[in-house]
Amino acid sequence: MTRLLRFLTVGACCAVILAPLALLGGAPAQGAASTDGQRPELAYLKQVNRWRPPSDPQLLFLLMAQFANAGRHAEGIDYFNGVLKRFEAGLDDTHKALYLTAVASLRAGRANDVFLLGRIGWVRDTLKLLDEAKRLTGGEGFITRWMSGLVRAQVPGFFGERDAAMQDLVWCVAHADKAPHLGWMREVYFHLAALHRQRGEDVAARRYQGLSGFDTENKPATFTTPFAEDAAAGHTMSPRSIREVVPGTVYLLSGFEFTEYYFVVSADRRELIAIDAGTRSDTARAAHEALRARVPSLPPLTTVLVTHAHWDHVGGQRYFRSLNPSPRFIGRANYKDELAHDAMANPATLQRFFGKEFHLADVLSYRPDVLIDRPTELIVGGTRFELLPTRGGETDDALLIHMPEQGVLFVGDILMPYLGAPFVEEGSVDGLLAAIDQVHALKPRHLLHGHEPLTRIFSSTAMLDDLQVQLVWLRGEVLRAMKDGSERGAIHAANLAPPTLERSESNVHLAYLVLRENMINRLFDQNSGYWQNGLQGLDAPTDADRGEALVDYLGVSDTQLASAAERMVADGKHELAAAVLRWAQPRFANSPRLDAVRKLAYLKLMEKYQEFNPFKFILYSGEIDEFTPQINALPMQGPRPAIGAQRDTVPLVQIAMVGQKLGDQQRHLFLEGPPYRSPAAPSLKRKPRYDPGSGKVA
Ligand SMILES: [Zn+2]
Repeated sequence: MTRLLRFLTVGACCAVILAPLALLGGAPAQGAASTDGQRPELAYLKQVNRWRPPSDPQLLFLLMAQFANAGRHAEGIDYFNGVLKRFEAGLDDTHKALYLTAVASLRAGRANDVFLLGRIGWVRDTLKLLDEAKRLTGGEGFITRWMSGLVRAQVPGFFGERDAAMQDLVWCVAHADKAPHLGWMREVYFHLAALHRQRGEDVAARRYQGLSGFDTENKPATFTTPFAEDAAAGHTMSPRSIREVVPGTVYLLSGFEFTEYYFVVSADRRELIAIDAGTRSDTARAAHEALRARVPSLPPLTTVLVTHAHWDHVGGQRYFRSLNPSPRFIGRANYKDELAHDAMANPATLQRFFGKEFHLADVLSYRPDVLIDRPTELIVGGTRFELLPTRGGETDDALLIHMPEQGVLFVGDILMPYLGAPFVEEGSVDGLLAAIDQVHALKPRHLLHGHEPLTRIFSSTAMLDDLQVQLVWLRGEVLRAMKDGSERGAIHAANLAPPTLERSESNVHLAYLVLRENMINRLFDQNSGYWQNGLQGLDAPTDADRGEALVDYLGVSDTQLASAAERMVADGKHELAAAVLRWAQPRFANSPRLDAVRKLAYLKLMEKYQEFNPFKFILYSGEIDEFTPQINALPMQGPRPAIGAQRDTVPLVQIAMVGQKLGDQQRHLFLEGPPYRSPAAPSLKRKPRYDPGSGKVA
C-alpha cells in the first residue's frame, strides 16, 4: 500500500516516454492548444497516414513521434485507434502490431495526465496492448520489443515489469540488425543502464550508459536519431560502414564525416578513383585508410572526380594531394564561382557542421587539374566514365559522374533538399526539377548521392519521376501564394499537399516531407526582395529590441518568462519558446529555471527534427552544446541479411537505414527506373574525350 501510495502521489516517474510532462513540474498544459498550422509536419503526416497504411512504417512512427513531441498524446491515441479501426480488416498481423505499438507508446506518454485513481488501470491496459503487439509479431518485431522494453523499464517497480523490460531490451541488443537503424539502440542502452543501476550492478550500468552516449541519467527527450554531433568531428549522418555497391569495384564509406566517400577500382585493377574529396584532410585519410585495411589489394589513388566545389566535397583535398604520386583532380570549369559562395559562409557555422578541425583554406585552395565544361568521356584503367555537367538543385558547378557499364550514377548533391546551403544565396528549384529528367534519362541501377540520407530517400528514378510532379505543383502554389500577399509562415502553415500525392508511394510521401519546408523557403527567398509580404523586412528589430518590449514595456518578470516558455514547450511550441527566450533571457542573468527551460526547448527541437532535418538538428544542438555520439555496430549476430537481388547489387552490411527495413521487411536500396521518356537527357553525341596521357580534352 505504501508503494502504491507513493506511485499515486509521486506519479511523475510513471512511463514518461517521449514527452515527459513530469519534467515541467507535473503541471498540466494551460496554454492554447497547438494547432495543425503550427505543426505542418504533423498535419502532413496525419493526412498521409489517413490515406492508407503506409508501405513504409517509418511514416507511421514519424507521426507517432510528432504527436508525442507536440504533447498531443490524447489526440494521437484517438487518431491511431481511428485509423486502426478503419484499416484493420486489410492489415496483416505485423502491421496491426505497429498500430498497437503506436497507441501504447502514446498512452504511456500520457499516463501522468490520467486521473490518479485510473492511472494503474491505464498503465496495465497499455502493457496489455504491448503484449498483444508482441504476440502478433511472434516476439520477433524489433519496434514492438523496443517499445515494450522502454515502457516497462519506466513504470514504477511495483508493477513488477523490470525483468520483462530487461528481456525485451537484451533481445534488442541481440537483434540490433533488425533495427531500422542503429540510432534506435541509444534508448536501449540508456534503459539497460537504468535497470542495471536499480539492481545495484554498477559495472554493467556504466557500460550501457557509455554505449548510450547520454551523459545524464535523466533526460527529457527521446533520441533514436541516426545523426551524431561532436565538437571536433562535426556532424555525421549515419553510423560508420563500408559497403560494396558493385562487387570489387565501387565502394561506399558512410559515417566517416559529414559526406560520403566513394572509391572505384579500375577495370585493370591498377588505379583507384575517388568520387569527391570529403570535408577535411583527417577524415579523408581515415576513410582511405579504412578502405585499404578492408581491401588490402587496393591500387594507388590516381584520380579524384569532383561532383561540385562545396566545402564538404573538396575540403579533404589536401590529404589526397599529399599522396605520392599525387592524383589528378577533375572538376567543373566554373568551380571558382562556387568557391566564391563557399568563402562567404560564417566560419563558426561551418565548424558546427564540419567540426573544429575544418579549415576553410583547404576548400578555397581547391584547383582541378582538368576542367570539364561539356559532356566528356573519361577512361581510367579501362573503366569508362561519362562526366556530365549539370545545374542541379544545389550548385551551378554540378557534375554527374556516370559509369554506364556498371549502371552507376554519382549525383553529388543535385537533390540536396535544402536547395543549396540554407545560409548561402544559391540553389535552384528549376535546376533540381531538370536534374530529375537527366537522372531519368541515364536509368542508373545505382543512384549514389553525396550524403547518406539522400541515397536512402531519393533512391530510384521511379520515385523521382513521381516526386517531380508533386514538386512542380508545390512551386506553382508557393509562387501564387506569394503573389497573393501571403507571408512565408502562412505558406508553411497551409500544409501544402498536391492533389496527386495520395496515389504516390510511401517513399514519395517521405521525400516530399523532407523537401517541402526548404523548397518553400528557397522559393520565397529567391522571389522576394528585402521587403516581403506582411511588412517583413521593412524594419529590423533585433532580439534585444524584442526583449526590451517584453521586459521594459510589458513588465515581464523572469518567473513569468520561464512559466510562459514552459507552457509553450508543453504545448509543443518549441520554436516559439526558443524565440522568446532568445529575446528576453539575456535580461535575466543567473536564472537556473530559465536555463533549464531553454535547454529543454532546444532538446525538444532536436527531438522533433531528429529523423528528417539534419541541418536543424546541428544548429539546435549547437545552441546548447549538446553532443550526440555516433552509435556504431557491435559485432554481428548470425549471417548478414541480403538486400536486393538485382544484377550488380550485393548483400550490404547490416545497416539498412530507416525506410529500407523494419522488422523483417526489406526493400531494395537500388531500384530500376521505368523506360526512358524524358527529352532532357544530356547529349553524349560527339563527346570530347579526356586523355589522361596528355592531360588534354580532345
Ligand atoms: Zn554535400
